[in-house]
Amino acid sequence: MRERSSVVATVGLGANLGNPQAAVAGAIASLAALDGVKLVAQSAFYRSAPIDSSGPDYVNAVVQLQTNLSAPELLAQLQTLELGAGRERPYRNAPRTLDLDLLLFGDASIQSPSLTVPHPRMWQRAFVLLPLAEIAPALVSAALLDSVKDQILERVPDGNNC
Ligand code: ADP
Ligand code: MG
Repeated sequence: MRERSSVVATVGLGANLGNPQAAVAGAIASLAALDGVKLVAQSAFYRSAPIDSSGPDYVNAVVQLQTNLSAPELLAQLQTLELGAGRERPYRNAPRTLDLDLLLFGDASIQSPSLTVPHPRMWQRAFVLLPLAEIAPALVSAALLDSVKDQILERVPDGNNC
């Protein structure tokens, strides 16, 4: 059988319940340990107030993964990790222990009932664009960053608990 070619996938992580910093760090470690996945870049952690939602501040980060999984296979892995972290979906935009979004999958454009890539809201969210600009500056223009400058985002100092 032919080896499936590998792709760089970009994943956004967010959490705002329990210990969100630990949830994001744990999820990054779990992603790096998946079969067929290699962690190739990791942003700093950022703290942001919820958008269209309530509850405590979020901790967010973005990672790039080299993977030979397909996009639906990777989404299934992300959802398994969300469930493992105790994620419930009582209502839309509810606070969450862990949210893993598939932002980009190489240069693929995907539109299925369960998966839209690029993630449709990523270009409007500072908590995606700032960490993404850190690890993949070519993907985020100055104009795009300027368009989200009113969203307050604070870099979490290294080694500091939220
Ligand atoms: P959100 O992250 O938008 O707040 P959820 O995490 O609850 O919402 O995701 C809801 C659904 O979004 C999932 O069941 C999933 O099938 C779908 N979905 C569509 N595109 C994506 C994507 N690019 N990444 C993650 N989930 C996606
Ligand atoms: Mg999500």
